[in-house]
Amino acid sequence: MLGLPGAGKGTQARAVSEEFDIPEISTGSMLRDAVKWQTALGVAAQPIMESGRLVPDSLVCGLVEERIGRTDCDRGFILDGFPRNLEQAAFLRRLLRAKGCGMALALLIRVDPGLLLKRLAGRQVCPLCGSIYNVYLNPPLRAGFCDRDGSALTQRPDDSEEAVCKRLKEFEAQTQPLIDYYRGVGVLREVDGSAEAAEVTREIFRILRQS
Ligand code: AMP
Repeated sequence: MLGLPGAGKGTQARAVSEEFDIPEISTGSMLRDAVKWQTALGVAAQPIMESGRLVPDSLVCGLVEERIGRTDCDRGFILDGFPRNLEQAAFLRRLLRAKGCGMALALLIRVDPGLLLKRLAGRQVCPLCGSIYNVYLNPPLRAGFCDRDGSALTQRPDDSEEAVCKRLKEFEAQTQPLIDYYRGVGVLREVDGSAEAAEVTREIFRILRQS
């Protein structure tokens, strides 16, 4: 699942995970967990993430390798936020080959950059179950609390304006070449992420069922 920060990758990856009963693997959430628990990885990643830059491949690739190696991934999985650059894509290709999987599909959620700032500025997440809300676009039933489990919602530190600008630049520099690569090898599918979340979900399911 590829897209600019705020494109809706997390929301859509979760929908795919539930519909097709496959795990959703989000490198961003795994890294945020590592930061929360202050593991060695978390301590190293925290300042980099908070500034909006990408964490070095050496830290991220091992996480993905370990997660994909678990048996619940044998039937397939959806990656959210990985790969983010050509080196990570090459690493993933090797992993998939070793696991005997076919070629993956790359889903790009395209969005108007103007909408992104509103989405990111209003984004709130549940620290317990990972549900994602937006105070403007998709508010929880009770302001500030998760509909699923009632936890107090939090804002991601890297949703500050400065960090968001850096994340958009990182995407342009690192992830855009990856999109061109996936388009070139014929596995890229694009959806319009400016539509309502439910409509984007329907379109993604349609693409996945076709392939
Ligand atoms: P995300 O939740 O996908 O927007 O990721 C949040 C932050 O985690 C990013 O801004 C990066 O600092 C870090 N991160 C997540 N996935 C990766 C990745 N594949 N490679 C490098 N850094 C990543």
